[in-house]
Amino acid sequence: MNIPLLDLKTQYQSMRSEILAAIEATCDEQGFILGPRVVALEQAVAKYVGSTHGVGVASGSDALLLALMALGVKAGDEVVTVPFTFFATAGAISRLGAKPVFIDILPDTYNMDPALLEQAVTARTKAIIPVHLFGQCADMETINEIAHRRRAGVIEDACQAIGAGRHGRRAGVLGDLACFSFFPSKNLGGFGDAGMVTTNDQTLAESVAMLRVHGSRVRYVHEAIGINSRLDALQAAILLVKLKRLDQWAEARRRNAARYGQLFQDEKLLDRVSLPVVDAGNHHVFNQFTLRVQKRDELRAFLKDHGVGTEVYYPRPLHLQNCYRELGYEKGAFPHSERAVEEVLSIPIYAELTDEQLQYVVHTIAAFYRRH
Ligand SMILES: *Cc1c(COP(=O)(O)O)cnc(C)c1O
Repeated sequence: MNIPLLDLKTQYQSMRSEILAAIEATCDEQGFILGPRVVALEQAVAKYVGSTHGVGVASGSDALLLALMALGVKAGDEVVTVPFTFFATAGAISRLGAKPVFIDILPDTYNMDPALLEQAVTARTKAIIPVHLFGQCADMETINEIAHRRRAGVIEDACQAIGAGRHGRRAGVLGDLACFSFFPSKNLGGFGDAGMVTTNDQTLAESVAMLRVHGSRVRYVHEAIGINSRLDALQAAILLVKLKRLDQWAEARRRNAARYGQLFQDEKLLDRVSLPVVDAGNHHVFNQFTLRVQKRDELRAFLKDHGVGTEVYYPRPLHLQNCYRELGYEKGAFPHSERAVEEVLSIPIYAELTDEQLQYVVHTIAAFYRRH
């Protein structure tokens, strides 16, 4: 059997004609920059997450950059985030000349440990970026409480978490601004790069909209130094088709996650493999199904030899990246992040997996541990 980590072709086949029709209609219009399709997607995503505003941008990375810019983050400011995330979370902070201040994650959910937040906030802290890693929300109540008291903005890095929820509210309205990515491997993925910022604050929404077109509200009148970061109309057309199916895919991912739980238990693997932990009150959408395993690299090679695609998200914590040497963090600074990078392994979880495939993945993992 051959089971890739993600199979986008099967998903595409299920809606090929609808997508091609949307692309054709956009080509016929020849209006590729912003325009009605981008506005329609902005409204649809805002409605979906429950926010009053959505602003389409070129990528999730730019969404983070623009959200920080809208909060006025500049050189010399500090922004608190986690080292166990995709690089863009911290990269956006550094791009503005601000300083990422890392705090460790919780070992069960891999999300920001809010108990470490207070002591990391200083007079220079302008913002906090919790990451909803793998499709599960961070502890936003505690983070928001500290942020509001210390007058720091809160930006959700919701790039992996469209559709995720916490206590009945969706990612996208759990901070001051939220950043989404429509990179192809995300739960709502385009055919290239795209992203969005959502917020319930009209002033912040207008700032992001202004900053994404070189800081101009009126053409050729520039009130701030922005960037060029628009959501492409073709991507908007495709994403509008896919958004209708998002909840159905998320439900299938959740079903697969539950089935994996049962299969790992049936195979008596739970002393070798730790399943994802869902925090109380969270609705997890499983952009990744990430195990914590023994002999991770050998298991990964064994699965590859047996046709099962996996990935390590992420193999190196950001505080130990070469480009962040000057921040001065040493090995040992964030033990939970450093341990996670050694032990995590993401296995296929996409909606189209069959029960036979799920069984094959777990049986192959069981076969590995019988030999080791
Ligand atoms: C994917 C991702 C990003 C960046 O999104 P792009 O659209 O690829 O720029 C940022 N943060 C996290 C946590 C992500 O998973």
